[in-house]
Formats: sequence, C-alpha cells, structure tokens
Amino acid sequence: RIYLDWNATAPVLPEVREAMVEALGAVHGNASSIHREGQAARAVVERARRAVARAVGAPAQAVVLTAGATESNNQVLRQHARQTTDPFIVCTVVEHPSVLETVRALEKQGVRVALWPVDSKGRLQKGWLKEQLNAGATLVSVMWANNEIGNIYDIAAIGAEVQAAGATFHVDGTQALGRIPMDFASSHIDYMTLSFHKMGGPKGIGAIVTREGLIVEALLTGGHQERGRRPGTENVPAAAGLEAAARALGTQLDTWREALGERRHSFIEALQSQIEGMELRGDTEHQLLNTLNVAFEGVDGEDLLLAIDLEGISASSGSACTAGSLEPSHVVLAMGFDEPSARRSVRLSFGPHTPMDDLERAASIIAAVVTRLRAMGVNSPV
Ligand code: PLP
Repeated sequence: RIYLDWNATAPVLPEVREAMVEALGAVHGNASSIHREGQAARAVVERARRAVARAVGAPAQAVVLTAGATESNNQVLRQHARQTTDPFIVCTVVEHPSVLETVRALEKQGVRVALWPVDSKGRLQKGWLKEQLNAGATLVSVMWANNEIGNIYDIAAIGAEVQAAGATFHVDGTQALGRIPMDFASSHIDYMTLSFHKMGGPKGIGAIVTREGLIVEALLTGGHQERGRRPGTENVPAAAGLEAAARALGTQLDTWREALGERRHSFIEALQSQIEGMELRGDTEHQLLNTLNVAFEGVDGEDLLLAIDLEGISASSGSACTAGSLEPSHVVLAMGFDEPSARRSVRLSFGPHTPMDDLERAASIIAAVVTRLRAMGVNSPV
C-alpha cells in the first residue's frame, strides 16, 4: 500500500520502535518509585524531556510531558481562562479542533473569543491581530503549521507583535516538527504544545514547552508527577520512543527536508502532467514540503478517497469523519470555498521515507481514478 496520510499520523521510525520495545522489556519501574527500577524509569523520562527541549531550542526544565497535543492545548487554554481576569482569547480560524473546540467550550463559559480570518490561500488577514490586541486580547493562539493545507505561519513575527502588546502567545507546533526548523527561544512564544507522532514518534505522548518563569497548572487532580503539572504514572515506553524521535529530529532534519523537497517537486510534476483541472490549495509559497491539498475539477473528494483506497492508496480529506460521512473541511470552508468546492479537497501528505516510486505510482493511480470518476459524472459538484 501507499501511505499518504502522514499528517494524520506517521509510520513509527525504526529507532523509535527499538527504543520502545527495549523500554517495555527492560524498564518496568514506576518513575516515581525511589528504588533502582524506579530510578531507571525516571532516567528514561528525564532523557526524553531533555531531548524534546534540545529539538526545539528550549531549556529542559521548560518541558512538561503530557499525553499528546490535544491534552497540551486544553491545558494551556483552560489554564489561561482560569488564571486571567477578563480573558479574551484569539485564535486562527484554521486551528486544529483541539484548540478550536476548547476555545468554543470556554466561550460558552463566558470567555471572550475571536477567530482570526484567513484569505482564499489560508493566509492570516493582515492588520486584524493589531485590532484585537488593541481591543485587549489576553492570549493569542496560532499553529506553526496547518495540518490540512500545510500553511506555515510566521510565528516569530506574530510572537513579537503579541509580546509587544503584553499578551500571552501560544503555538501549536505539532505539524511543524520534523518538517521545518523551530527555535522556541527566539520566537517570542510563551507556551508551545507538541506531539511527535506526525514525524515517526509514538502516539499518546506530547509536551508543553514554556517560557522561563511560566508555570503550567495541572488540568487533572492526582499525584505529583511532572512536578505537580501532570498527574498520572508516566508512560515510560512512550517517553523512550519520544526521546528517540526527538534525537532523530535533531540530527536529521536537514536530510529530511531535502528528501521532502525532492518528493514534493516530483509528485506535483507527476500529478500535473497527467491530470488537467487540478488545483493546489493553500499558500504554496509558505507550505510544509510534505503536504499537498488538491482539488480535481468535477470530482468529489470522498469519492476519490474511497476509489484510491481500493487501489491501495491511503489519504484523507483532512476532515473529521462523523458517523461515516465526511464533513467538508472547516479550514477550506474558512478559506471561502463553498461546500461542494470544499468537498473536493483531498490531502496528500507524505514523509521523507516515502519511496519516490510510491509517489510516481500514486500520481498515475490518482490520474486514472480522476478520469474514471469524471467519465462517470459521479456527484460532480463543479
Ligand atoms: N494539533 C495539530 C495541528 C494536529 O495536527 C494534531 C493531530 O492530531 C493535534 C494537535 C492533536 O495531537 P494529538 O493527536 O497528539 O492529540
């Protein structure tokens, strides 16, 4: 099969699998126990913390390990609402549901909320943030890179603006990891939330990285793990995998980027040379190298995804699958596309280890399927 859904989750890196299997076998202690087995488990967790910090240019004490980016996002946003008098949260309209739905839940509890609009390429509307900061925004949340259209946002510039206004800056860095260089320290970020499973790390573990002096308050009640910031017995095998993923990132990012650039170039060329009426969506000038959001004239995205699945290709529309029916992407709708047009969006996301041949083959299969669906005139929402 050809796996083109890396933005949902990536195949686990061999070194991650090895580290996890090793930890599952050899490290069975509870990281909070004082005996030798406990100390061995503690050492794994602390190594993971240091590796995450190094991978994103932050000090180790700034990293709190969590069960993933969804939890991290909830923790940062809910903590802000709790601790701030008159909270006013601003986030982009294209955030992941773990931010958007949290913000919506907070809004129901009386928190003021505003969503930063985007243009037809998913670029953030200029000048809008300044107005909100002048109107008293207390927290601004912007993803480093978008999971559906792959847009990369100018975090350092936005951060400088937010910091100058004295507001808190939260960045969801999940999709940027392993794809673009990220320097926490120079980007004016207060809280960055992470999950490594889009680049070959384990699922179910993530982190919150904080600026010096800021404290993460526990979302749950329980024990004193993570210095009282995240109760619950640490997931030691996942921490071992996290360390391996973060280390790989530290040493291989440049190689991965080169591999992604080559793959992107030849994949686009192969698609364009075989298919007419193909639209590349998003800000192609500032886009993750591994992500293509494409729409084929006259072809419904769901029909295409089901047809290529039968031919051995796994991709997605980037949208949530509810009760068997695919909702059009909230990101593409926010870009101003109408519903039938939004339904044509298909997300093809790959990784540095995706064989070039797979992409060549995928392009030919997609071309044949598009031709067939067009000929059948199935659901053609032109
Ligand atoms: N944020 C972004 C941008 C994502 O793409 C994802 C993916 O699922 C998440 C957050 C949620 O991460 P997790 O699966 O670790 O909860």
